[in-house]
Amino acid sequence: MAYNSTKRKEIIEKLSSQHFDILIIGGGITGAGIALDAVIRGFTVALVEMQDFAAGTSSRSTKLVHGGLRYLKNFELDIVRETGLERAVAYRNAPHLVRPEKMLLPLTKDGSYGKWSTSFGLWLYDILAGVKGLDKRKMLNRKQTLEKEPLLRDEEITGSGYYAEYRTDDARLTIEVLKTATEKGATALNYLKVDELTYESDQVSGANIIDVMTNEKLSIQADYIVNATGPWVDLIRAQDISLNEKRIHLTKGVHLVVDHEKLPIGQSIYFDVSDGRMIFAIPREGKTYIGTTDTNYNGDKTNPKVTKQDVDYLLKAVNNMFPSITLQMKDVESSWAGLRPLIHEEGKDPSEISRGDEVFESDSGLITIAGGKLTGYRLMAKKVLRLICDRKGITRKCKTRRTRLVGGFQKPKELPIYLKEVEGKLKEAHFDISKAFYLVHRYGKQTDQILQIYKENDFTHLVQAEAYFTIQHEGVVCLEDFFVRRTSKLLFDIGHVMEEAEQLMPVFEELLGWDKDRAEEETTKMKRLLNELTSFE
Ligand code: FAD
Repeated sequence: MAYNSTKRKEIIEKLSSQHFDILIIGGGITGAGIALDAVIRGFTVALVEMQDFAAGTSSRSTKLVHGGLRYLKNFELDIVRETGLERAVAYRNAPHLVRPEKMLLPLTKDGSYGKWSTSFGLWLYDILAGVKGLDKRKMLNRKQTLEKEPLLRDEEITGSGYYAEYRTDDARLTIEVLKTATEKGATALNYLKVDELTYESDQVSGANIIDVMTNEKLSIQADYIVNATGPWVDLIRAQDISLNEKRIHLTKGVHLVVDHEKLPIGQSIYFDVSDGRMIFAIPREGKTYIGTTDTNYNGDKTNPKVTKQDVDYLLKAVNNMFPSITLQMKDVESSWAGLRPLIHEEGKDPSEISRGDEVFESDSGLITIAGGKLTGYRLMAKKVLRLICDRKGITRKCKTRRTRLVGGFQKPKELPIYLKEVEGKLKEAHFDISKAFYLVHRYGKQTDQILQIYKENDFTHLVQAEAYFTIQHEGVVCLEDFFVRRTSKLLFDIGHVMEEAEQLMPVFEELLGWDKDRAEEETTKMKRLLNELTSFE
């Protein structure tokens, strides 16, 4: 059953009345990936998420589907190879959400990367990740590098590496993976929090759950319980009394968004900072975003904050690499902070801890998956499903390698043709045709459904049809869900958010029954959020 927010009651009824093969706790990319793999293998699947889908780390990453060049530096070759190969799989299955992106790695006189080691490293990176043809890395000399990116610190540049990565929209990727799972029969719902695990003969057999929207209680029963709660995995393990020496180590990573005119780079750049860390600057939709930091974290997991210190660090790094740029705190239009759920390694600094993943099984049978990356979600799911199949003594093959995500295309080359079609339709309806790119790279082929909704309703703005679609098909229950995790407008188009929020009120009124008080409450919440994104302590 798909997660239509107007049908929450029915979905909850289904969740509490059926006995499932697998209950997944956590609606980030890890949980979503497991749900998809499991349902395709023929298991009955329930998934619950205590916030909105992807509201944890899975909407707060650098938004790259990448092999992780930095792991090469740490000689984590397995992660580089696995995730490197996964990039092509993710692209093939969802070309609207995962797009090739060239990355420039500048080499500087006092930087930590030498010419030969970078050339070798990128060559190995390409080999491990199976990169072919024109996408293979190129080494550029000083002149070529400065032609490509004139803003770089001229006197320090000695050359650069130019190589292939992929970019994505992390929250939308999570949501489309989950939608694909629900389309195939999984039952998933957001704003359902696991309050406690339940047991039969010392074996975990389900969970008592609170509907965060209504405070009502329900319970779900399943043969296998999977803890895919990212930064929260140890809380669930503690409930299960199975916390051992293997623990989660949280580090915080911050990103800042400035107008592209303030940092008008021509392509994505991955540069090193004097403390040995690496930072991305990525142009996107008229903005440039910069990140990330990597600091130990022990605070509130739900709402990690960007501090003044984080902002100073990133702005200093950028201003140093691009000397004609003098970014100041007031230039920051938006920001986000995310928590990396890493597996603790004694004595290691945040940046040195492995980004690998691990599956833990407790005596009660609770399966926990921790660590990992957005990029490797499919392989993480495979590990969990292999374990479940082993426990059941059955063989069921993983088929997600060739599973197109909802909205995807048979072949990536169909995307530009479809984009042209959508441009034609928008022109006919007297809309700005640049919206085609926006819509197709968020919803893929589901753009047709949004245009159809617009036609069939008495709407005055396209964004109303978009919200209508996301309430009915993507579990949106409030403005924040829509503006942060379905459209990322709160990150990359913050200037239009309040005006559009106003336009959306009739849609929320019609579909979710909002009255004047609820609408006012939501407007106040959005204003507070907007303020939080640019005020740093
Ligand atoms: P989450 O996304 O946090 O999902 C766990 C979910 O469980 C949460 O939504 C939470 O609300 C829910 N939950 C918790 N407790 C309960 C409960 N009791 N009941 C119900 N639900 C519950 N990876 C890449 O591949 N590329 C990148 O560019 C990249 N950049 C990154 C940059 C930063 C700054 C960070 C922090 C990470 C980055 N990563 C990147 C890593 C990647 O984002 C994470 O590995 C991934 O998102 C983790 O997903 P998850 O599903 O395990 O956790």
